Amino acid sequence: MIDRERLLDRFLRYVQVDTTAVEGTDTYPSSPGQMTLGAMLVDELQAMGIDNAAQDEHGIVVATVPSRGAESAPVVAFNSHVDTSPETTGAHVKPQVINGYTGGDLVLPGDPEKVIRVSENPELNDLHGCTLITTDGTTLLGGDDKAGLAIIMELTQSLMETSDITHGPVRILFTCDEEIGRGIDYVDIEKLAATACYTLDGGGANDLDVETFSADLAVVTVRGVNIHPSIAKDRMVNAIRAASAFVDRLPRETLSPETTSGREGFLHPYQIEGGVAEVTIRIILRDFETAGLEKQAELLRKVAAEVESQFSGASISVETRPQYRNMRDGLEKEPRAVKCAQLAHQRLKREAKLSIIRGGTDGSQLTERGLPTPNLSSGQHNPHSPLEWACLDEMVQAAEVLVELAQVWAEDPG
Ligand SMILES: [Zn+2]
Repeated sequence: MIDRERLLDRFLRYVQVDTTAVEGTDTYPSSPGQMTLGAMLVDELQAMGIDNAAQDEHGIVVATVPSRGAESAPVVAFNSHVDTSPETTGAHVKPQVINGYTGGDLVLPGDPEKVIRVSENPELNDLHGCTLITTDGTTLLGGDDKAGLAIIMELTQSLMETSDITHGPVRILFTCDEEIGRGIDYVDIEKLAATACYTLDGGGANDLDVETFSADLAVVTVRGVNIHPSIAKDRMVNAIRAASAFVDRLPRETLSPETTSGREGFLHPYQIEGGVAEVTIRIILRDFETAGLEKQAELLRKVAAEVESQFSGASISVETRPQYRNMRDGLEKEPRAVKCAQLAHQRLKREAKLSIIRGGTDGSQLTERGLPTPNLSSGQHNPHSPLEWACLDEMVQAAEVLVELAQVWAEDPG
């Protein structure tokens, strides 16, 4: 019932709409293409017979596939985001379809220096015979997260076309500006009224991401005293020197993204700006345990005090603010969210691989706000890069998982 060619056709159409998120704008969504693609999706949903499909003024698309034979079943939501990463342009995407991949490296035709190498993408070894989609090497592909869009749209059409599947209400949620951390700014969770939600934003196939980092942002402000260098003796306090000392004292052999993996957390200074009078350092704090973030903040305050005593007259403030929280805690409150996803895979004779993400998803924020939202695979690979690619066969598998998932939830998985 999942129509492979139709799914591919959708994906190819969606990636050709430029929805690159733009950082540092006040508008929402941050780029007009996101409105365009959202409107396109609403038209397609309505053409499938879903009259309630609508896009709000923020570009967010919500639609409900009416239940069939299970009116009182819990509402399940599926989410993906329409925007693509600002790290690589998403304008003029020219997708290349490789049918029946026979192995080997893939040279991208628009820029032959760009090669998708098997050595760097060992998962390609398992995908011989599959249909792959790449870019021409000059843009990103946008499989993150248009693979998710295409999968959910294909699921929707399948559910609308078939009468032999029993399912409860299926809520569709397409969001904007996920890539710049604003994916759920305007999502009305109460109105969504779902018992669980799934983001279709994971790589490969059969992953079930049930943990993310907990994340804080630390803004360190170093204040010095500026005065003309000619008369600076014993008067100038150079914030640049103090800030450099501060960064130099941060751990590098441990607790840095360059030296950690798996469940290890890190502190990552990623932006520094300023001058002699004042320097601001932005540092992201990441740990799978929320308590670990407090320890990291303590470390920053300790370093600040040390540097202050070394640079008399300098003052250093450390402010932290929460970004998102490990979804594990929220998922424990609604164990069916993970259990149903595992069951859906089992019924397809597949095993869901429970995994952790060294990052956050919109699901981390949704879960924190009370809507349990694990993340599912969607066939995307190498996101945010001109070397991005997607696998149609994995996208089909993801759509099949969703069909099962909708049914599992209708059967009172208690
Ligand atoms: Zn994504």
